[in-house]
Amino acid sequence: MPSLTERGLLRLATCDVRWSMLLIKVFKQIPFMVVCGHRNEEKQNEAFKDGHTQVQWPNSKHNQEPSLAIDLCPLPVNWQNTRHFFELAAYVWAESLKKDVPVIWGGSFSFGDYGHFELI
Ligand SMILES: [Zn+2]
Repeated sequence: MPSLTERGLLRLATCDVRWSMLLIKVFKQIPFMVVCGHRNEEKQNEAFKDGHTQVQWPNSKHNQEPSLAIDLCPLPVNWQNTRHFFELAAYVWAESLKKDVPVIWGGSFSFGDYGHFELI
């Protein structure tokens, strides 16, 4: 059984505790990597400059402490495999319904941020 890496756990720890609640279960069904949790001002500006986000500090849900947003990538990593991201989103949604923790998926944004999830 694969498990989250130490780095992944540290990133998860920067997020709202509801994310741990949801994702520990999801991980057992579909393994993923935690790409990003909280983003400080420097990281947010960097992400904006690199085109990874459309919002500037402090308007991203990643900028809150703890972070309401989290970026995930299904394993094995393949950023082109959109289908795999849809699958991950389905598992996250199923868990969010079960636990009654509403979640928005970035894949539903106009610019399709498939690895991004945020708490409402
Ligand atoms: Zn994100």
